[in-house]
Amino acid sequence: MDSERAIFRPGAVAIKGSRIAAVGADADLGNRFEARTTLDADGGVVHPGLIDAHNHIVHTSCRGVFGNIHDTGSSPVNFADWKAGVTEDDEAAATAMAGLEMLRCGFTMFIEPGSLFSTDAAAAAVERVGLRALFAPLYLWDRRECFEAMPALESRSLMARAPVDRARCLRQLDAELHRNSHPEARVRGYVFVYGVGTGSPVLLQAAHACARQHDVPLHLHAGYVPEEAEVYRALNGVSQVAHLNELGVLDEHTVVVHANALDETDEAAIHESGCQIVWCPTAYFSLGIGGQARFMMAERFRRGVPVALGTDGAFDGTPGNTMQAAHFVAQSFADPVPAEALLEMQTVNAAAAAGLEAELGSLEPGKRADVVVRSPAAAEAYPGNNPVHQLALTMGSGSVAMVVVNGEVVFSGGRSTRVDEQDVCHAASTSVAERAQRLGVDLAGDWPTIN
Ligand SMILES: [Zn+2]
Repeated sequence: MDSERAIFRPGAVAIKGSRIAAVGADADLGNRFEARTTLDADGGVVHPGLIDAHNHIVHTSCRGVFGNIHDTGSSPVNFADWKAGVTEDDEAAATAMAGLEMLRCGFTMFIEPGSLFSTDAAAAAVERVGLRALFAPLYLWDRRECFEAMPALESRSLMARAPVDRARCLRQLDAELHRNSHPEARVRGYVFVYGVGTGSPVLLQAAHACARQHDVPLHLHAGYVPEEAEVYRALNGVSQVAHLNELGVLDEHTVVVHANALDETDEAAIHESGCQIVWCPTAYFSLGIGGQARFMMAERFRRGVPVALGTDGAFDGTPGNTMQAAHFVAQSFADPVPAEALLEMQTVNAAAAAGLEAELGSLEPGKRADVVVRSPAAAEAYPGNNPVHQLALTMGSGSVAMVVVNGEVVFSGGRSTRVDEQDVCHAASTSVAERAQRLGVDLAGDWPTIN
């Protein structure tokens, strides 16, 4: 993923400490470097760690709990109640489990969008499994009108723990930025405002000023569903993203997440401002809005808008599905996105969304040594003539043999080198069962279970 997109075959990566010293042909690096340790990729594909540009990591723990998270009728609690029902231990357990899954899918970093109540416990879990992450302050929102368009995202219990309150939000804007004072920190901070119409101009401008002052990106959700875009227009007399541009909140360090339902004035604001986009294709599939919203991601990418890929919530899938989901969304609109573009969106563009494009996203000298080795024994790695197509579309979860983060092997032989995976997974199961019991949610499915 260097600027030439060079593929060395056979290739080698030289690592010194936490950084990449050189990348090149195997024979060349063999002559230039005397290695203290050699990790044999055994002919498998070696690539930069994938980066998930938007992942509410704890939502991984609501798999199989809701048939449809947008459904507010059939369960005694909605999705927002489930989010609010977590303890510190639940968040640590869910983050460790989801973190292991990320390693197994070839990811070395994720960006969490401000849905963690206990960021210190979650940061400890990220560090325990050996990943990187970017954390934001808890749910920054100070207007509630737009929830009318997204009822499953609001509940009394969630708003009690994360009040819709301007003073709270202004106080907490920089809550996670203290992490950035350590240059070696694997968990760093940025600013995420919830968005989708729940931020006042005062909050949005303050968040933007805070992010610019501390040189971190500002992310927000916008254009999630057409109904939210309509409520926003009715309230403000202007479309949401166009309004952000008028407010001075959009620039090349601002990242608009989703951007499913934007109109032409919004689209013009994106091009004019140079802002970035995070595309969450599996979330888009789950919304059922294909008939109402115009698909623009392929065109944006062709026109030079930096588009990165995110999972949103991995409840009906896994981060390893994201590039494939993006491929199928684009195909369904007869506006295909090439495999090369998908890999850029999940690596260099996602690193840019994190504001860390100088450190992460590619295998280049000087960057952090976040390196993934795929198993050459995986049947889906063959015929093997096109490694880019292979990585983007056919090698999902299960084909990762080794992961190096910051120069350290954290996953090898298909296993974590740092934690007992069974313990981590068992803790996540127990935590979900206990949360369901506290909230009165019946986890039994429709089919009879015979013990
Ligand atoms: Zn989100």
